[in-house]
Amino acid sequence: MPQSLEPDTTGTFEPIRHDGLPIYRRRRAEYTLYYTPGLLCVVDSHEARSFEASIALTGNTENSYGLTLGSQLWQWAQEVVALAADRREEPFQPECLTLYLHNRCTLRCSYCFANPHLTVTSGLDLETIVAAAQLVAQNCREKDLRLYVVFHGGGEPTLDRRALEQMLDVLDQIAVEYQVQPFYYLATNGVMSEETAIWLARNVHLVGLSCDGPAEIHDAQRTFWNGSGSSFFVERTGRILREEGCPFHLRVTITPTTWHRQAEIVEYLCHQFSPEEIHVEPVYQGGRAGADFRWDVSLVEPFVGHFLQARAIARSHGVPLSCSGSRPAAIHGPYCHLFRQVLNLVPGDPQGQMTGVATACFKTPDARSARERGVVIGARNPRNGRFEIDGGEVHRLRQKLAARPSRCLTCFNRYHCAGDCPDRCPLDPDGPSAEEQGGGFRCQVQQAIVVAALDERAAQLWSEVQSGKVQGPHGTRIS
Ligand code: SF4
Ligand code: SF4
Repeated sequence: MPQSLEPDTTGTFEPIRHDGLPIYRRRRAEYTLYYTPGLLCVVDSHEARSFEASIALTGNTENSYGLTLGSQLWQWAQEVVALAADRREEPFQPECLTLYLHNRCTLRCSYCFANPHLTVTSGLDLETIVAAAQLVAQNCREKDLRLYVVFHGGGEPTLDRRALEQMLDVLDQIAVEYQVQPFYYLATNGVMSEETAIWLARNVHLVGLSCDGPAEIHDAQRTFWNGSGSSFFVERTGRILREEGCPFHLRVTITPTTWHRQAEIVEYLCHQFSPEEIHVEPVYQGGRAGADFRWDVSLVEPFVGHFLQARAIARSHGVPLSCSGSRPAAIHGPYCHLFRQVLNLVPGDPQGQMTGVATACFKTPDARSARERGVVIGARNPRNGRFEIDGGEVHRLRQKLAARPSRCLTCFNRYHCAGDCPDRCPLDPDGPSAEEQGGGFRCQVQQAIVVAALDERAAQLWSEVQSGKVQGPHGTRIS
C-alpha cells in the first residue's frame, strides 16, 4: 500500500507548488484536503502523493477520476490568478455609487470610526451626487449591470428624509435616462419614526440594520448623546421592515467585551428579527474606538470558537452568518474602493471651502479627512458639471494599496481576505508593524474561520466517499 502523508499540525493549509500557483494542502489522519480558491477536494491520504502528481497533468483523463479532478484543480488555480490580476489592473470604471450624505448622527456609539456630530456640519450637495450618478450609470449601462447605490457612512442617512426622497427621485430619473435598473441599499442605526421606517421599507431594496445584541449589550454600546440606549428603536424598525416585507441584513459589531457572548447575541437576533443575513464584525480601530477596543491575539482562538457556535445557531434558524473580512465565495482583498469599482462620495466642509469628493477609502467620512489621508480620487468639475476621476491619483494609490505583507503571498486565504484593513493600511505612515509581519488578530481570525469552514465541508465530502456514494478523490465548488 502507498505510504500516506503525515497529518499536519499547523491548523492551516500549506502551499504545494513552487511556481506560486495557489494550490494548497491540509493533511488529516484519513484524508488530505486540496484547495484552490473556489474548489476543494478530498483524497484518501494513501493516494495523496499520486493525486499531487496528477495536478499539473491538464487534460489527462486516461487513467482515473482522480487525474481529472487534479487537472481541474490546476486549471481552476490558473483562472483565479488571472481573475485576480484582471481585478487589480482593470480600468477604474465604477459600477457602484456609495454616498455618505452628511456627518450627523442621533447616536454616539462608543466605537464609531466616523465620529459624526449631533448637528450637521457638512453635507453632500445634490449637484455632485447627480454628476457622480450619471458617471456610474453610464458605466453600468455599458457593462449591462444594475445601478447600485449605497447610502452609508459618516452620519445616519435617514435623518433628513426630505433630502433622501429628493435624491431617490433624481436617481430614479437617471436610471431611466441611462436605461439601467436601480438597486438601493441603505445602512441605518434604526433610530427613526414609524412613518420613516415604513417609507424606507417601501423605497429601498435592501436595508442594513445595526444591532449589537440584546438591550443590555446594545444599549451599552449604541447610545444616544445623552447616554440612553437605542434598542427600542432598532427592534421597532426591524419589526416594521419585516412586516413590510423589506429584506434586511443585520450588522453586529463585536468588541473585546462581547466576543464571548456571540452565541447569545445571534440567538437573540434570529429570534427577534428573522433577518435575511447577519454580518459579524470585530470592531474596527480608530475614531472613537480607543485602547479599550484593541484586540489582543490571545483572543483569536476563543473568538473563533464563539463565532463558530454563533454560526451554528444562526444556521439552525436558517440565517447565514458571515464575517466580511473573509468571504471564500468571492475574490476580494482589502476594502479599498479602487479594486472594487466603487465611487464613494463624502461631504465637503460647512464653510463651503471644500465640496464633496470621491474617496478611495471607506474610512474617511468627509472631504477633509480624505484630503489629509491623500485618498481623494475625484470631484465634480464646476466648469462642465461633470464628475471627473483623477486617473493619476487612481494609479498612484493602486500601486501603494496593492502591497500586501509577505505572509499573505503564500497564504491559502489571500484571494478572499481583507487582510489587516481597516486597522492597518499600506498608506499608514509608520510602515509595517511587528503584528503585520506575524499576522495580527484580524488576520488570524480570518484564517481560522475559513479553515473551519473548509474542514467542515471536507468532512462532508469524505463521509460521501466513505458511504460509497462516490469513489476516489472527491471535490466541490466553494460558493
Ligand atoms: S484602510 Fe487602507 S486598505 Fe483599508 S480601505 Fe482604507 S485605504 Fe484601503
Ligand atoms: S491577512 Fe492573514 S489570512 Fe489574510 S491573506 Fe494575509 S496571511 Fe492570509
